[in-house]
Amino acid sequence: AQIAADAGRLKPAATADGRRIAVLLNVAAPEDLAGLDAAICDGIGLVRTEFLFEGSRGLPGEDAQYAVYRRILEWAAGRPVTIRTLDAGGDKPIAGLTIDSERNPFLGLRGIRLSLARPDVFRVQLRALCRAAVHGALKVMLPMVAVPAELDRANAMLDAEFTALTALGVACARPPLGIMVEVPSAALCAEDFGAAFYSIGSNDLTQYTMAAARDIGAVADLNDAGHPAVLALIARTVEAGRKRGVEVSLCGDAAADMRLTNALLATGLTTLSVSPIAVARLKAAIAGVTA
Ligand code: PEP
Ligand code: MG
Repeated sequence: AQIAADAGRLKPAATADGRRIAVLLNVAAPEDLAGLDAAICDGIGLVRTEFLFEGSRGLPGEDAQYAVYRRILEWAAGRPVTIRTLDAGGDKPIAGLTIDSERNPFLGLRGIRLSLARPDVFRVQLRALCRAAVHGALKVMLPMVAVPAELDRANAMLDAEFTALTALGVACARPPLGIMVEVPSAALCAEDFGAAFYSIGSNDLTQYTMAAARDIGAVADLNDAGHPAVLALIARTVEAGRKRGVEVSLCGDAAADMRLTNALLATGLTTLSVSPIAVARLKAAIAGVTA
């Protein structure tokens, strides 16, 4: 049975009618990859970098971040790796960085908003990412983007850090910059963003669409990623990606909810990203889907 499970995990995913679906991994900490064969996935769809900032020893420096990003890229052995810039705030407070007194942290200074407000912290991460980019197929994505100006400002900062590193003779590359689509404004206006790719964050997209917090049990029934309103926003994002010729993936928990696999693939999604533990089950669920 173990050998069968391993074989199932290693096989590329395809629907019953032969549509190839890319299955990527979500990584919350480097330990998630320990002992894992990279052949189980088509790449890494989301590295949550908050773990680097959660220790008690203060904010991580450029070299420490670079070492971690490089190790993840080397593990992936040439497969695409999408690393998300710091998504602090909301459900992810970081001591010394996020504001404790916000009345509505989910609607406050979180994700890209905080990074743009703290260029001293953001630039260090961008430099570490540019240096790591020479070690694999790195893509960088921004969390909680609501308007194109946020992506534009981040693109300008990434260009500036890449140029500065190059001038110093440091080995580096300029990774493509994409956005998470997890705010309804970004889903509705996805075509207006000059993003290199879109990755749908269904956890936040659902809570903002349904006005039901992701961490309040009393409204858990309303926090439904399978609601037609959420699926419509996902379909709209997929359509924007198709029109612009850029990849769309989904990396929220909905990707690992096998009750939703059919509905998600029906939106036209061809890339799903889940935690390693869900890979075998997701591939089996995909194999049961027909168009
Ligand atoms: C999401 O919001 O769906 C997502 C993938 O990001 P996080 O859960 O880290 O907010
Ligand atoms: Mg999110």
